[in-house]
Amino acid sequence: MDIDTIAAIATAPGEAGIGIVRISGKNAIDIGNKIFRSKRVKSLKECEERKLNYGYAIDPKNEKKIDEVLVVYMKGPNTYTKEDIVEINCHGGMVPVRRILEVVLENGARIAEKGEFTKRAFLNGRIDLAQAEAIMDLISAKTDSSFDVSLNQLEGSLSREVSDMRNTLLAMLAHIEASIDFPEHDVEEITYGELESQGEEVLEKINKLLDTVYTGRILREGIKTIILGKPNVGKSSLMNAILRENRAIVTDIPGTTRDIIEEYINIKGVPLKLVDTAGIRETEDLVEKIGVDKAKGILNESDLAIAVFDTSRELEKEDLEIIELIKDKKSIILLNKTDLPIKISEDEINKLLPNKKIINTSMIKGKGLDILEETLKDMFLSSEIQIKDNTIVTNVRHRNQLLKSKENIQEALESIRIGLPIDCVEVDVKNCWENLGEITGDTVGEDIIDKIFANFCIGK
Ligand code: GDP
Ligand code: ZN
Repeated sequence: MDIDTIAAIATAPGEAGIGIVRISGKNAIDIGNKIFRSKRVKSLKECEERKLNYGYAIDPKNEKKIDEVLVVYMKGPNTYTKEDIVEINCHGGMVPVRRILEVVLENGARIAEKGEFTKRAFLNGRIDLAQAEAIMDLISAKTDSSFDVSLNQLEGSLSREVSDMRNTLLAMLAHIEASIDFPEHDVEEITYGELESQGEEVLEKINKLLDTVYTGRILREGIKTIILGKPNVGKSSLMNAILRENRAIVTDIPGTTRDIIEEYINIKGVPLKLVDTAGIRETEDLVEKIGVDKAKGILNESDLAIAVFDTSRELEKEDLEIIELIKDKKSIILLNKTDLPIKISEDEINKLLPNKKIINTSMIKGKGLDILEETLKDMFLSSEIQIKDNTIVTNVRHRNQLLKSKENIQEALESIRIGLPIDCVEVDVKNCWENLGEITGDTVGEDIIDKIFANFCIGK
């Protein structure tokens, strides 16, 4: 394992009040010492640990001042990485932080890879893999509820549940071992009964976690929503009204040639992600402009369609096309302009689109928006789920491991029930134990670890 000293800019790029360069590793304090000068003390080592010290960052080659700084050092193992850490707070903006990082690198540190600080925290045993992933999710959380879920996971909620299940599986393996060692008939009989109930217990817990996956995905990725309607029904007015009442969250997703801007609106903790492919949002006639197949494709990729109709006009061909498109789609119907004389009745729409939620709105009067928001919340975040106190699986990797483990334990149960030889049961129980262990990183390979941390941002 490389134990060299790493450094990176820990703050986000761009102009800001302060910027922070973080150094971690056995030479961190020495390096900090080399580049820190203060009137008050001769050396950083004389300063009190975990206290900010005022002074200058200098280039030791020529003693030239780089910036006014506040420096703190923390001795391992009670640090983020469990190693010695130095943090240099300087003025924000790219120039000072870059210059300081440069001298730090010239004086014995190496630039940190993405997520390497957190990777060290994991490799040094301070957190497990699920907690490391929670840190990444915390950074990218877009709503309070997804932040809460990640914080919960960082505190170890998922890890505890996984470790409980793995303990049960270990107990099963111990039973199996015992019955292989003492193969008297009655021992075996007791073992099968007990194994079955333990296996069922694990299966139930896995299922409970898997039940939260949909909520987890909604929190993580937002509800991909497309707003449909012929020209002039009030789509833009709806967008504006939603935006006026709620926070818009815009995230940059770097890494693509054209950085994609994603826009989320936070509605009562539900992140709504408005699908905006090639101007669809303002496409006045979706079907005509892009064709039925493409429109269907876009609909397929979204979680929800909000279809807007103008109740002050009779239904027209374009309305019927939209009705046809959303028939089998999770959707909310808005009958807009109810402040004007009504030409379309709720019954009429109900006949064409049975079992869909229909809301009477008037964008001009601000009517119906509260019902829309409540509806969204009920549709996507079942109210019984107290997000704050529950373990919710938000991570795709965790979901996949849970699915594999579920298959394993189901097969084990099957073998138990039809009385297959005990070593058949053993294999599946063991696999289940290993697959669950990959969630927390107990049984995970280095390649997977590298892949996970490569998704982190630099400096974390
Ligand atoms: P879009 O083409 O579907 O985006 O429709 P707009 O939001 O641009 O609205 C078209 C016109 O209808 C504008 O003049 C709006 O002011 C008007 N409008 C939107 N919603 C309502 C409503 O609830 N009642 C009335 N009376 N007019 C509305
Ligand atoms: Zn419009």
